[in-house]
Amino acid sequence: MRLLSMRREEILERVRNACARVGREASGIEVVCVSKGQPAEVVACAMEAGWTVFAENRVPELLQKKAELEGLGIAALPPFDMIGNLQTNKLKALVGEVRTVQSLSSLHLARALSSRASAAGVVQRALLEVNVSGEATKQGFSQDELLGCAEELAALPALSIEGLMTMAPAGDPARARETFRAARALKESLERESPLALGTLSAGMSDDFELAIEEGSTMVRLGRVALDRNYEPFKAR
Ligand SMILES: *Cc1c(COP(=O)(O)O)cnc(C)c1O
Repeated sequence: MRLLSMRREEILERVRNACARVGREASGIEVVCVSKGQPAEVVACAMEAGWTVFAENRVPELLQKKAELEGLGIAALPPFDMIGNLQTNKLKALVGEVRTVQSLSSLHLARALSSRASAAGVVQRALLEVNVSGEATKQGFSQDELLGCAEELAALPALSIEGLMTMAPAGDPARARETFRAARALKESLERESPLALGTLSAGMSDDFELAIEEGSTMVRLGRVALDRNYEPFKAR
């Protein structure tokens, strides 16, 4: 297996190349390392390899991994984001434990997260997960839903909503590109027509992050390409 630091350098080069193709600055892309399913030891190695922000998709795994990293003697834990499906009964444990909740997928969850954050005396950063491809299996606000409740979302007192997050259909580059384009268009119309201030578009995973960057993503979430020993970054595409 390539060293994690070499894999990271290759990823950053691919990010730079994708930016160059569309005249963007690579400094406008944040690359988040998705550590779900990886043991704390691998996160520690990934930190040594240069990764600075991580993401997890389950609350118990997140909390356990943070405790294990502390157990490994890592004094300054890196920031983690939450990217997985949320249940209201897990929000209390989640609030304050993550930098950004990227998977805020309904008004109901947003209200609940805001009240949990209020109770804890914190303002929780969040991204709104949008389902612009219309796939029934995907979580997230539909376009119409989001346009309908943007005012209420913006007014929730203990949430700082900073952007959108989306996932594209797997295995279909043309549809992935359409999805990213639609998410960006939705972000732009919300910025024009609603009180939400959305700087971030979190879009792009191992198999499609270059497409996402070409279509305006400002944050890519990379798991397998960064950490999975069985993932073949240059053959799988
Ligand atoms: C797992 C996951 C990722 C990372 O996926 P890879 O294909 O391993 O890069 C990104 N975003 C979300 C929401 C995920 O669940």
